[in-house]
Amino acid sequence: MIPMVNLKAQYAEIQDEIVSGFSETLETCAFILGPNVQAFEKEAADYLGVKHAIGCASGTDALHLALLAAGIGPGDEVITTAFTFIATAEAIKYVGATPVFVDIDPGTFNITPENILKAVTPNTKAVMPVHLFGQPADLPAIKAICDKHGLKLIEDCAQSFGATVNNQQTGSFGVAAGFSFFPSKNLGCFGDGGLVTTNDDETAAKIKQFRNHGSDVRYYHDVVGYNSRLDELQAVVLRAKLKRIDQYNAARRHAAHLYSNLMADLPLTTPYEDGVGVHVYHQYTLLCDRRDEVMKALQDRQIASAVYYPVPLHRQNVFKDECAGLSLPVTEAVAERCFSLPICSNLSDDTVRQVVDVIRGVLQ
Ligand SMILES: *Cc1c(COP(=O)(O)O)cnc(C)c1O
Repeated sequence: MIPMVNLKAQYAEIQDEIVSGFSETLETCAFILGPNVQAFEKEAADYLGVKHAIGCASGTDALHLALLAAGIGPGDEVITTAFTFIATAEAIKYVGATPVFVDIDPGTFNITPENILKAVTPNTKAVMPVHLFGQPADLPAIKAICDKHGLKLIEDCAQSFGATVNNQQTGSFGVAAGFSFFPSKNLGCFGDGGLVTTNDDETAAKIKQFRNHGSDVRYYHDVVGYNSRLDELQAVVLRAKLKRIDQYNAARRHAAHLYSNLMADLPLTTPYEDGVGVHVYHQYTLLCDRRDEVMKALQDRQIASAVYYPVPLHRQNVFKDECAGLSLPVTEAVAERCFSLPICSNLSDDTVRQVVDVIRGVLQ
């Protein structure tokens, strides 16, 4: 069986380091906001080139905390994408704001500066691009729009740890950004975890309060906060993997480029790279008119594949009333033709060739 991600093989490479880190934590019993969380926050901030990186309980919480700290609330509109995981829009709803879905670029699958601009109203307060599948959105242009119209840029970096634009890390462009450490993400822990980044001291102070019951000093509470801390044991895992993230992402890029080269002559669309943003291939996602046939053939050979995402958010039951009448033709067309192949930090060239041979058998 070839899975979408081989977490077992990745664990085998770092097992000793993790087991010894766990055992140290079990001895010291510093389970909540302990030394590994603090060290990881510092190491992640250094890696991402931001002033503050604040751990929290999940990527969903990271986006929620980022929006709260940015002061987004009821009556505010947040421009975002419908071609994403539900959590992007859930976080916007949690603060009482309204997600305004705009259409994507057919090549990058990300929201475009032009579509954002067309959706700006007097109620727009923020733009939340998602760097989907590890491909950075057009951050320089989106940031320029935000600056010009007084909007807050809040990046959803759940799929883009280590992706860059003009050598600058995603998660460092806006007022705040949210990362996810869900196990299958490019930087994943062994459960749930997340991170909020910001370069603004005041925003960082608010995020730290919100994630810890609205408190800076224990048993003194200034606002209604949440219990959303990054777990100390997860921080042990994340520190081990952060050291290797460049190697992990390079391996994903290598596998992706091999897939694309081997399939260049087939009737499907391989992922687009613009040469400005560095795509870290959280997913390797193709467009193909014969998707269902291809996926069936892969399944018959015990090769995993998946559709991210079959139903865009404006067509989900949860949003279907508020989005009635909204048409996003590119999003809808992409959702009907997209599918993703196995990709991870330890996918061998032979496995890539094996997957491509099956696809070739169907399409050629
Ligand atoms: C994974 C993901 C999230 C949510 O992260 P969790 O850690 O699962 O809460 C948010 N946005 C996107 C685009 C994601 O892929």
